[in-house]
Order: sequence, then structure tokens, then C-alpha cells
Amino acid sequence: MTDHACGPLAPCLVMLTPADGTGSAWTVAEADPRQPQILVTDQGLTRGDGLFETALAVPDDAGHLRVRKLEAHLQRLAGSAAALRLPVPGADDWRAAIETALRGFAAHARAAGSLDARGVVRLTATRGPEPAEERPGGASAWVLVSPAPAPDPELRDRGLDALLLNRGLDSRSAERAPWLLTEAKTLSYAINMAALRHAREQGADDVVFVSADGQLLEGPTSTMLLARRDRQGRRELVTPLRRQGILAGTSQAVVFAGAEAAGWRLGYGPLVPADLLGGQDARVEGVWLVSSVRGLMPVRSLRGEGVDIPQLPVDAELTATLEGYLRQDLPAGPHGS
Ligand code: PLP
Repeated sequence: MTDHACGPLAPCLVMLTPADGTGSAWTVAEADPRQPQILVTDQGLTRGDGLFETALAVPDDAGHLRVRKLEAHLQRLAGSAAALRLPVPGADDWRAAIETALRGFAAHARAAGSLDARGVVRLTATRGPEPAEERPGGASAWVLVSPAPAPDPELRDRGLDALLLNRGLDSRSAERAPWLLTEAKTLSYAINMAALRHAREQGADDVVFVSADGQLLEGPTSTMLLARRDRQGRRELVTPLRRQGILAGTSQAVVFAGAEAAGWRLGYGPLVPADLLGGQDARVEGVWLVSSVRGLMPVRSLRGEGVDIPQLPVDAELTATLEGYLRQDLPAGPHGS
């Protein structure tokens, strides 16, 4: 393996390059993360025209780094590519590139004495440079593995203060206007990042988007989950309805599969902020934002858009139970309709 000195200071990079003009064959090669690899005319940069996936690699029992929910991430990537009509490498090419990048990452982690290093695995594909002749075959694609940020146990114990922000689209927009690509993981995340900055300026930790007609949607980088118990003591796990234009969370799907196996009932919205208060028929046990790298983060308060819920239940034991389902890494089940 060539030493491109990836590790704590530089991510491990593997480039996937179209082998010919057909887009069906790709070559996989390590590259130097400190050298330029992407042309400034790449439409991923000039227009945010591309897609990505972010997954977490953790050591398995034998100490080998393994990407959690890899197949679910590859499936969602293929869905995003279809929505964007973007030629991307096939699943086998991605798997080969990930394996190469993880090998480099693990070698450097071992050399640095870190035996339990966790990696963030980011897959990216763009439409490539314009005009297209600059790179026959079009798209650029690569895999980056970098050290996972340390978890924040204090914030997890305390729970997030979340700001409810209007996404400006109604809950039917995704159906009426599929070019909004609300269900694809595109590179155009400037809006999501702006929402998070806005929340932090307001003293909040995170965001829950709400549709223009008042339905709960998702976080800028996470899926929302709600746990409740009915009067008969039956537990239910609910997530907002996907048809309203939210990303299909791979973590949500795995948590749901684990919860269902453990006897929970599952629900797929629609949800409105008042549902977080519970009522005569059901008691709310917790609300979480969940994503691949950060895992499950409880939400302790929610305000904005005329809603003020100063205190939501934060139950560390229940968070640990749901984390257990997430770690089981069962094959992704249905995401809901
Ligand atoms: N929703 C959005 C908009 C996201 O960006 C993400 C992840 O980054 C998620 C949900 C959670 O997806 P996953 O659980 O697959 O990481």
C-alpha cells in the first residue's frame, strides 16, 4: 500500500475514476488527500450537483473496522443517484474503495496506538467538470475515511434544546415537485447548515424542520423518533411520514427493525408538534434525533413556530435500549411509506 500519510491529520482518500466513456467500469485507487484531486469546474463544487453518504465504521469483535449498515447506505446512494440521473460507481466498486480506504485508516490508527478508532466514511459522487470533455465518463467519485468525532456524553445525558424551523414547503411539495429532491442525499446542504447556524445563534443545539402546513419533518442531519406508551402499556415508536419529503434514515430503519423484534409497535406519522405532548391515550416517553455518526440524541426541549415545549422526558435507559437496537445492525427494513 502506498503511504499517503492519512491518519489523524488527513483523511484516507480513495478515488473512483471512470475507466472509459461508458460509465460502467471504474478504477479504484488510493490518492493523496493533501494534493488537489477535483477540478474547480466540477459541478459538485459549482452547483452542489452530486450526492453523498456518511456512514460510521466501528471495530467488530475481532477488531476489524466494519461499516455499520453498509448495504442500506449503498441502497440509499443508488436511490439518490437515480433521482439525480447521476452516473455513479456500482455497489461492488464502492465496496472495494471503502475496503481500501479502511485498510489505510486502520493501519494508521494501529501505528498511532489507537486500537478502537472509529471512522467516518464519506462517499461522494459529483456530475464532474463542465464541459464534460474535460473528464470522459463525467462523474467524479471518492471515498474519504476520517477519525470519528468523540461522542458528547454530557450533551447526550442532558438532551438537546431544539428549535422548530419552518422549511417553507408544505407536506405535499415533495409529491408535486419531485425536482426538489427532498428524498435524495444531495450535496446541496447549504440550507441545512444555515438552519443549524441559525439555531446556534438562538442558543439552541439543533433543529427540527416543520412543513409550512405544520407537520414535523426531520433534523438538518438527522431523523426524528418519538417513543410513547398507550394506556394498555404498549410501546410505540413513531417517525414522521416519509412521503412528506424527508430523507429515509438508515439509522431509523435499523432502530425500527430492532424495536419491532423486541415487540414495539411502529408508526410512520404524520406527526404534529402537539403529538410530542402526549394525551389521554398515550404518554410520551422520549423524542430523539438519530443519525449514523452521532447516534441517538434525546431532545429535551422544543420551541419555535408558536410552539413551546420546555421539557420533554429524557430517559437515559430508554436511549440505551434504542442504541442497543441501532448496534444490532439488522438489515434495513421498510422505511415506511
Ligand atoms: N435526514 C437528513 C436530512 C440527513 O442528512 C441525515 C443524515 O445525515 C439523516 C436524516 C439521518 O440519516 P442516517 O440515519 O442514514 O445517517
